Amino acid sequence: MPFSSLGLSKPLLKAISAQSYTKPYPIQLAAIPPILEGKDILGIAKTGSGKTASFVLPILELFQRKSVARNRFVKALVLVPTRELAVQVAEVFHVFGETLPRLVKTVAVYGGVSINPQMIALRDAEIVVATPGRLLDLMASNALQLTEVDTLVLDEADKMLDLGFEEEMERIFDRLPRRRQTILFSATLGDAIQDINAALLRNPVKIEI
Ligand code: AMP
Repeated sequence: MPFSSLGLSKPLLKAISAQSYTKPYPIQLAAIPPILEGKDILGIAKTGSGKTASFVLPILELFQRKSVARNRFVKALVLVPTRELAVQVAEVFHVFGETLPRLVKTVAVYGGVSINPQMIALRDAEIVVATPGRLLDLMASNALQLTEVDTLVLDEADKMLDLGFEEEMERIFDRLPRRRQTILFSATLGDAIQDINAALLRNPVKIEI
């Protein structure tokens, strides 16, 4: 099945072919249509499966459909375990998003570097890709508003737990609106991931690649 059958609009299809993605990977076939329908996703998939594009593309598509009246509030939050992954995921948003009619600013925030430039960059960010600790620091400084987040992605959730971010993650979840779409990707499906699934996801579409 081609990318054009997944419900993505022309500008995004053009951006996809500009990246020489000729056909969707299985995870993209499975995840893109339900994400576009607003469903929650529990995806068991490893790096290299194409999982990043499987949430980046439908999130960008949904932004294209939303009203253009934008305010300066974060609408989509992607939590990741490491600085490297934050940079990588934000880059995929940039690559596919830069030619779209409705421009969406994506900012990556992570620890280990000074916080001030991130605070400035966040002022008009609509998509934020963050590691949990730095996000909490930025929240404590009121550098971003999460009251309008309608999409939450947990990428490599098992790795976030392995790195000891459970408490930070819970503090972040507590600050997010309850009405939202949640997309969880993990390489494994252990008890802790099942707990997050039970606590955060509503009738998720389960995808195992
Ligand atoms: P990921 O698992 O998201 O880290 O993606 C692994 C690699 O696959 C990245 O280099 C992507 O650019 C590439 N990729 C993802 N989806 C496709 C696709 N449909 N066609 C070709 N390459 C892809």
